[in-house]
Amino acid sequence: MSQVCPPIYLDGFATQPLAPEVRDAMLAAWQKPGNASSPHGAGEQAAQLIEDARCALADLVGAAPSEIIFTSGATEANNLAIIGTARAATARGEQRRTIMVSAVEHKSVIEAAASLEAEGFEVRRAPVDRHGRLELRELATLIDQDCLLLSVMLANNETGVIQPVAEAAEIAHAAGALLHCDAAQAVGKIPVDLVALDADFASFSAHKCYGPVGVGALYLSALAPKPAPLFFGGGQQSGLRPGTEPVPLIAGFGRAARLSIAQIPVEVQQLQRLAERFEAELAARQIRFRRVSGSHDVLPGSLCLAIDGAAADSLCAMLARQVQLSTGSACTSGQIRVSHVLESMGYSENEASEVLRLFCNRYTSDEDVERAAEALSIAVSKSRLAAGRLRQ
Ligand code: PMP
Repeated sequence: MSQVCPPIYLDGFATQPLAPEVRDAMLAAWQKPGNASSPHGAGEQAAQLIEDARCALADLVGAAPSEIIFTSGATEANNLAIIGTARAATARGEQRRTIMVSAVEHKSVIEAAASLEAEGFEVRRAPVDRHGRLELRELATLIDQDCLLLSVMLANNETGVIQPVAEAAEIAHAAGALLHCDAAQAVGKIPVDLVALDADFASFSAHKCYGPVGVGALYLSALAPKPAPLFFGGGQQSGLRPGTEPVPLIAGFGRAARLSIAQIPVEVQQLQRLAERFEAELAARQIRFRRVSGSHDVLPGSLCLAIDGAAADSLCAMLARQVQLSTGSACTSGQIRVSHVLESMGYSENEASEVLRLFCNRYTSDEDVERAAEALSIAVSKSRLAAGRLRQ
């Protein structure tokens, strides 16, 4: 009987696989009932699991445990940081009414900011260059004394480009604005020191760093003004994010954070090497491509490539049984649209249609990379042949 290999998973921008150690930590937590607010042993155990996870996450990002609030993910953390900060400022009688975001932010930042227009705020987008890095000079000219909050991500979820957050924070603070950093893609993959970045707020997501889906966190610097809560209820987490804490998910996030602390130094090099190998394998097979990120630093293991003359969506479809990756376009309401990220980098529809993204993970082997690059090369050749025949 011939053995069917499962597809090689290289769609780490969307989500990274769950670490077995995280699954074990969650299973153990699920087997112990306990509401962290209950006044008995089971409640105390649940509260202890949450505090352990808070300490692990704080250690991972250079924060104090009291500066971490658990949420349902980075989407919620981004909403709480942006909308909560704007509402708290309005309640304080602040005059500043502008929210700035980089043009390549995740939709949960862009749409959260846009929702504030209904509350009298203006939203400005700071441009990026052709390779997706924030233009600091443009930012400095656009920001003014009306700016309440600037949001700049640490690493982009389409290009992998690492953004100059510390420099952006300096510009924001010089204008008297606060800085929020969506660190969902970066945390657990590269060393992150929020004090060095000088962020006032930062968002994280467990499933981007080998943890479970459905849990994330918001870092609130002890020196920053508290955002107004978006939810109201039982007063958990100082009332900033009420709701019974999902102890197993939080315990899983904590385990993922501890694993990252131990493994980042090794993984950064290993993943960088795998991405370079992938490019070398493509080049050896005469595939013409270029890095969308140009020479900017990217998340180790990530690749965002424009493949000459090949339609990325048909490549993904052809490869679906062998390799799982994604494109630079998204299907919204049945229509293929260029992502806002590539659009803000100046990509035409045609150029964006050639963009493929992939992200190796800590379980990706050299053999996976070789097989995936070979499969992609064959698919590119086939799609060029088909396109050639169509033109004849
Ligand atoms: N920000 C970034 C940069 C992301 O990549 C994602 C997930 N695609 C999010 C926010 C949202 O995270 P979550 O899935 O935890 O809500």
